[in-house]
Amino acid sequence: MGKALIIGAGGVASVVVHKCCQNPDVFEEICIASRTVEKCDALKEKLGGGRTKIQTAQLDADNTDMVIDLIRSFQPDVVINVALPYQDLTIMDACLETGVHYVDTANYEPPDTPKFEYSWQWAYKERFEKAGITALLGSGFDPGVTGVFTAYAQKHYFDEIHTIDIVDANAGDHGYPFATNFNPEINIREITAKGRYFENGKWIETEPLSEKKVYDLPEIGPKNIYLLYHEELESLAVNIKGVKKIRFWMTFSDNYLNHLNVLQNVGMTSIEPIDYEGQQIIPLQFLKAILPDPASLGPRTKGKTNIGCIIQGVKDGKPKTYYVYNVCDHEECYAEVGSQAISYTTGVPAMIGAMLIIKGIWKKPGVYNVEEFDPDPFMEALNKHGLPWQESFTPTLLD
Ligand code: NDP
Repeated sequence: MGKALIIGAGGVASVVVHKCCQNPDVFEEICIASRTVEKCDALKEKLGGGRTKIQTAQLDADNTDMVIDLIRSFQPDVVINVALPYQDLTIMDACLETGVHYVDTANYEPPDTPKFEYSWQWAYKERFEKAGITALLGSGFDPGVTGVFTAYAQKHYFDEIHTIDIVDANAGDHGYPFATNFNPEINIREITAKGRYFENGKWIETEPLSEKKVYDLPEIGPKNIYLLYHEELESLAVNIKGVKKIRFWMTFSDNYLNHLNVLQNVGMTSIEPIDYEGQQIIPLQFLKAILPDPASLGPRTKGKTNIGCIIQGVKDGKPKTYYVYNVCDHEECYAEVGSQAISYTTGVPAMIGAMLIIKGIWKKPGVYNVEEFDPDPFMEALNKHGLPWQESFTPTLLD
């Protein structure tokens, strides 16, 4: 039925490739293209021979002309960008030039300033409309499924949504003193940035990791959880009409935070270049090079994730609370696709977004965040493709 060009060959890309190969009726052919072609070839070696035909290519996705050439030769229906956020704009430019749909899981960030916002990508809206192609932004878990969960709540259960609390808990243990579950550079930039939440039309800034509470989550138990800024807050504040407050919470163990504090205190998380023996290096990139590769955590990680949304508002004049979440088991993910649950919970929704575009179910010219589409087919696909969700109208986890 369709062809997908998958850019990137890291933890998330590996799950996308597995999931596309599990759905050969939709993904007849894929091309895995990344900076290090050996990683693409290793995936082909592992998964080739099935009904989905696999090609690989070496690609520097910072180079728009190279992406254009590859799209012209492979002729995909959709490009799934699971490289890094730095490549979003060059890949979107290539999609515009060639008239191919685009899916990603993280908003563009300029490499030299950690500035998390959709402005750069939303600026492409008119050009994508004119070209008659769809850009689906943030089709991972958070952003991604959290936006779909919210749109589903809005469609089925609320007249007005007043508050959204997105709760991302990882009770997994990989046994290393310190490692990140996805790309260390992107992960540490996100966590060490100032916190921010949306309230009554304004953004309120907090010191990094300064607001903490405890949630007692199903299948996870009580956990310390910290307020962070996360990119879906920006799109939900625009797309969920009348919402008064949106916050994002993530769990961190004391051990993780102690290590992060020390690394920050000694300057290892800085993105300012420094001179080292006559060479310019960026401390955070050096740190990434010595930390465990997130793709290698799969066989070691035990425990579960629980990511969901607590939504409060009004239905038929009465106050209402709705909690919708997915629990994912690291070891089950590893047994199925050879990756831990963070890569799994991101890769499955990226595949689903691309599948809905190929099938023409989520296709409209322009640039959209996930919550701007009908949530029902996505929710159905989550249940079918490995991320079943559960819901409660009387959650007891609220503080
Ligand atoms: P990894 O670091 O494991 O993989 C990134 C891949 O992109 C690597 O294969 C890397 O190549 C490749 N790459 C980097 N730069 C280029 C380039 N210029 N051209 C071509 N390929 C390039 O990251 P993850 O798989 O953990 O994360 C992938 C994406 O998913 C990130 O954008 C991350 O922010 C996002 N994410 C989203 C989540 C969500 O829920 N929405 C959650 C987790 C992650 P090489 O192998 O040579 O380094």
